[in-house]
Amino acid sequence: MTTVPSLQLNDGNSIPQLGYGVFKVPPADTERAVSEALEVGYRHIDTAAIYGNEEGVGAAIAASGLSRDELFITTKLWNDRHDGDEPRAALGESLEKLGLDAVDLYLVHWPTPARDNYVHAWTKLIELRDAGLSRSIGVSNHLVPHLERIVAETGVVPAVDQIELHPAHQQRAVTEWAAARGVAIEAWGPLGQGKYDLFGTAPVTAASVAHGKTPAQVVIRWHLQKGFVLFPKSVRIERLRENLDVFDFTLTDAELAAIDSLDQPDGSGRVSSDPNEVN
Ligand code: NAD
Repeated sequence: MTTVPSLQLNDGNSIPQLGYGVFKVPPADTERAVSEALEVGYRHIDTAAIYGNEEGVGAAIAASGLSRDELFITTKLWNDRHDGDEPRAALGESLEKLGLDAVDLYLVHWPTPARDNYVHAWTKLIELRDAGLSRSIGVSNHLVPHLERIVAETGVVPAVDQIELHPAHQQRAVTEWAAARGVAIEAWGPLGQGKYDLFGTAPVTAASVAHGKTPAQVVIRWHLQKGFVLFPKSVRIERLRENLDVFDFTLTDAELAAIDSLDQPDGSGRVSSDPNEVN
């Protein structure tokens, strides 16, 4: 079975660098899809309360026979539950659905800046970590001003920031900020969510031909060699296998640089929502 490398987080915990994300996996399909993912070798599952499929993830975990310490499970706090003690209630509900005593990673899903309550949400996640309900804590969709503010007001640096990141949208301001502080970057939408012809770009096609690997495998390899954590989504077992079969080749520095050059630094490569506008 494939051994996925782990990265060490800034709190000392480790995280498998490649996992399986279940955004838009329908609740009724989730147990099957996650069971197949665990069967082919994935051990890191990324879900969220808003995905509505934590119960399916939990059912697959329970049926897997795997021990808890073999798995890395992430879920996220939804935007309407930042206030008061709501984060504790929300995590309690997620744990119940997942059938777990604690998750490995709990994230503030979006900063929702117009509501101005993401610092409060972050203070609550710190309490939840200290109570042992999540081993690590982090944020998602936080841009540099949001990151600067939570660190300035709490003194606690997140273990990860999970952001939209793929070759056309490389978010260098965030990745440079994170690299300087030991914050792991998790790339969501790592394949561009299929919303632009990433696989048909010249650098991806050339590397695909050169290595005899698929364009998706080349893009996954690019993320891994850049040091990002990722969890591409598919509900097809053959693609789950394909996306894990990326540890038998290495992109050259020139191939990495050619894919780097696909970035649109003005942000026009974004395929999903602007974190400043999700409230
Ligand atoms: P993705 O870039 O992983 O794209 C998924 C699409 O790529 C699938 O619909 C599938 O059709 C296609 N695909 C997958 N493997 C393929 C292959 N081998 N060949 C060809 N096509 C393939 O996009 P995503 O699902 O949005 O992102 C991955 C995960 O990131 C999600 O499942 C979720 O866990 C997380 N996520 C987080 C946020 C957030 O706000 N924090 C937002 C979106 C996604």
